[in-house]
Amino acid sequence: MPFAMLDLSKPVLEGVKAMGYVDPTPIQLRAIPLVLQGRDLIGSAQTGTGKTAAFALPILTQLEKHKQGAPRALILEPTRELAAQVETAFRDYARFTDIKVAVVFGGVGYGAQTEALSGGADIIVATPGRLLDHMERGHCRLDQISHLVLDEADRMLDMGFLPDVRRIIQKCPGKRHTSLFSATIPAQIETLIKWALQDPETVEIGARRSPAETVRHIIYPVAEAQKTDLLLELLNRVNYDSVIVFCRTKYGADRIASLLKSANHAVAVLHSNRTQREREQALQGFRDGKFEVLVATDIAARGLDIADVSHVINFDVPQHPEDYVHRIGRTGRAQSSGDALTIMVAEDAVHVYDIERYISQKVPRQKLENFNYRYTAIFEADKPGGPTPHEKKYKAVRVRGGYMFGSVGRRRR
Ligand code: AMP
Repeated sequence: MPFAMLDLSKPVLEGVKAMGYVDPTPIQLRAIPLVLQGRDLIGSAQTGTGKTAAFALPILTQLEKHKQGAPRALILEPTRELAAQVETAFRDYARFTDIKVAVVFGGVGYGAQTEALSGGADIIVATPGRLLDHMERGHCRLDQISHLVLDEADRMLDMGFLPDVRRIIQKCPGKRHTSLFSATIPAQIETLIKWALQDPETVEIGARRSPAETVRHIIYPVAEAQKTDLLLELLNRVNYDSVIVFCRTKYGADRIASLLKSANHAVAVLHSNRTQREREQALQGFRDGKFEVLVATDIAARGLDIADVSHVINFDVPQHPEDYVHRIGRTGRAQSSGDALTIMVAEDAVHVYDIERYISQKVPRQKLENFNYRYTAIFEADKPGGPTPHEKKYKAVRVRGGYMFGSVGRRRR
């Protein structure tokens, strides 16, 4: 079904056409008619499925044109980067309307944001903390909000924003349309849904928690002392166009970035200790191809739309399985396929087990040919002849083609 059948306004359809979109994605097909009917919506879809347009296009259609006065749509985002990205998407889709969009997030001065708010924005895209600051300073009222979107709600919960989100919702009129997007629905989000949404319709695209299906997952077991050597060798051997290397800590990300720089890779770093300007430069440079490697902490893992990432390398195994799914969501977006390579040391076994259980699949282990491996206990698990003491420790079981930890999949003895 083409976009033209979706009852979107003419200028919005022109905006969509100018973006080069031909057909709506599955979440757009299902969510757009519901929002246009005025239904509250719970959206659960993998990243890269087109969920931004799924809420932006019907909102722009319903707002129709610029109206002097207070803002009428509010989109809450967990991070500055996402807020900036969603604002850009709104501006792109709204380019043939006179609707005004303002973005509000922390880490930068108040001046430009205050100006944008007082200039009569119809739509505000905001992170919760800074929006509350502006509200307290009297820069912005929410009493005319007719459309509220809580994007990446589970991430807002993780970051401790739910009390702020609640305070903001309390300032919005009770009569409004609310959409909530979340990859997972933990209990606190369920409570928020009951409190903030009315008779919502759920749109679930693909299995919840399932990683992008186009991604090829590989695990590289290695000794702790050889992690960085293996990373350098992987980068040398893998034929990548652009790669994100994920680290667990900001310190680790800085360390890996300087190591890669000294190995002559064009590297940018993205983590929360960088200034807003540094973060924007890193992202922009990576998008433009100035940097071929982006070293990032999990702040970059959620929702960011970075096109054409050919590889994601997990230098550190993420401690939360959800973060694995979000990290690998950076590759294999749209139709292109991607590779997700994970470096694993013995201590990671439990986390890898959790990830495999979470994504309901075993990730194959591989060794890099001709890499000068030093002994590590995790290789023991590959040896024939029953479980090793190490395997026993992590409750490893053998399955076809290797081994895995825990009781995922069918046991083979
Ligand atoms: P999102 O899931 O909203 O982050 O979108 C992921 C990417 O898909 C973005 O680059 C969008 O510009 C793109 N996109 C969204 N909708 C469509 C569509 N109907 N056809 C092609 N690309 C799209």
